[in-house]
Amino acid sequence: MNIPYENASFKDFENIEGQNIYTTASQFKDYLDFLKVNGHLNYRIESLSPCGPEMELLLPGDDAPTRCVCLVSNDYLGFSQHPKIKAAVIDGVQRFGTGSGASPAIGGHFVYHQQLEEKIAGFYKKKDAILYTTGYTANSATLQCLLHKEDLAILDMSVHASVYEGCLKTNVKTFLHNNMEMLEQVLKNAQDKYRTKMVVIDGVYSQDGDIACLEKIAELTHKYGAYLVVDDAHGIGVVGDTGRGVIEMFNAFDQVDIITGTFSKALGNIGGYVIAGNEIITYLKFQSKQHLFSTTATPAVMGILKAIDLIDEEPQWRAKLWENIDYIKQGLISLGFDVGTTASAVIPVKVGDIPKTLEAGRLLLKLGVYTNPIMYPAVSKKNSRIRLNVMAGHTVAQLDRVLAAFKQVDEQLDISGNHLKS
Ligand code: PMP
Repeated sequence: MNIPYENASFKDFENIEGQNIYTTASQFKDYLDFLKVNGHLNYRIESLSPCGPEMELLLPGDDAPTRCVCLVSNDYLGFSQHPKIKAAVIDGVQRFGTGSGASPAIGGHFVYHQQLEEKIAGFYKKKDAILYTTGYTANSATLQCLLHKEDLAILDMSVHASVYEGCLKTNVKTFLHNNMEMLEQVLKNAQDKYRTKMVVIDGVYSQDGDIACLEKIAELTHKYGAYLVVDDAHGIGVVGDTGRGVIEMFNAFDQVDIITGTFSKALGNIGGYVIAGNEIITYLKFQSKQHLFSTTATPAVMGILKAIDLIDEEPQWRAKLWENIDYIKQGLISLGFDVGTTASAVIPVKVGDIPKTLEAGRLLLKLGVYTNPIMYPAVSKKNSRIRLNVMAGHTVAQLDRVLAAFKQVDEQLDISGNHLKS
């Protein structure tokens, strides 16, 4: 490609595709250098302090750390820093060490894995669950194992990337996000054409923070003889009266065939899970390659056992999180920003094009506010946004700093669109 950075524009890098892996990679590096030179590389920033509402960051090109209010963490309840959870992790490591030594089928299945499978299933009023190394693998491995070339996956367009990856070897049809007419049409057209039809949705959507129309989706899915999979990665611990996510919001415990999720967000650890009926879970335990041939989670997962208890025992974190969500959401709306239809701890501030979104992210960082500019391919090209992840531990003073920074950036860039209107 070889465009001098000074003359380059985002357009020049729109479709990076070289002749082989080396030319593709080197053109991609040109793009990263272009972002760096323009101060836009708000990506893989090194954090020097624990994950929390405020963090010390080593910004590109700086020698000394900068302290920022952090709105990039999915550790919504602050459980990665909770003393009781840390104590449970330490106890796990003291008793069992730092690794589990093997994959589950050949010696790596320990008492803490067994307990965790039972506990997460019980949390959703079910009996059976299987663990994966990450939430990403839980989705991709399960769908890959269950769906083949005779089958059909019907996906809400906004599902997580891991769902798309799980469907590479099956037939896929998508419907516009939360569009029930379109879902029904796809289900109707698919009648009698496939062996298994599986509708896959997120509970809370990771880029918009909005919630699936679960009641209607469950009704349509069953009417047309399909199965329903819900990934509630961002819902667990956050939504539902007792933190059982979107499944609880809609009292859909008996209407969802498979629940997937992650321990990496509100539960403050790492790992993925799949909850379903005994036959499906047993099948996955013996047929899913990513489970069979990959070493099990470390004894640090004992912290997750405690974290699940604390969702019930310490509801004050969820209550505080919701106070913060409401506070910042209302603050942004009264400043004129478009936050879409969020109903969770994920708040998108809609900007539109990619360069403006990156510039907004850079200016916010300069003002001590660490956010995630979200762009294509995570969302469509004209739908770029600054995404905020709210935490229970944010103070009002921190949230006020965030609102003041957004106001200042808006005065410079007009990301709200208000200034154009007036
Ligand atoms: N599903 C959704 C909706 C997610 O947002 C994520 C995390 N980005 C995942 C699954 C993957 O979870 P994990 O980070 O544990 O791999």
